[in-house]
Amino acid sequence: MTPTHIEHIGIAVRNLESAIGFYERILGLKCHKIEELPDQKVRAAFFRIDRITIELLEPVDNDGPVARFLEKKGEGMHHIAFAVDDLEKSLNEMGEKGIRLIDTVPRRGAGCMDIAFIHPESAGGVLVELCEKRNEK
Ligand code: ZN
Repeated sequence: MTPTHIEHIGIAVRNLESAIGFYERILGLKCHKIEELPDQKVRAAFFRIDRITIELLEPVDNDGPVARFLEKKGEGMHHIAFAVDDLEKSLNEMGEKGIRLIDTVPRRGAGCMDIAFIHPESAGGVLVELCEKRNEK
């Protein structure tokens, strides 16, 4: 498997509105969507730059993955997501290579994507997400 591009970058923030301020007023990007993602217990703000989406992630719950990340590491880059053509196959290949997977089967992510996370332990300390557009199959 080889990713086709970087699909998005997730950034953990404590306060969505003030983080949006930096991206809009300082960088001049436009937030095109704010959406709650119950699955990840966050409220997310989306920005687009070229082909890449920036997702600002604010926890809505104290025991979600992003809330725990903030508690441990503070604000900062939370994960990087690579687009792949065949998510299921990619996961199987990685599993066979002994890569530690958080999701062994794809699950539904935001914006018509099937997603799966790879454990940072197997990915140089970075939480890696693989995603595949659902309607492309
Ligand atoms: Zn993501």
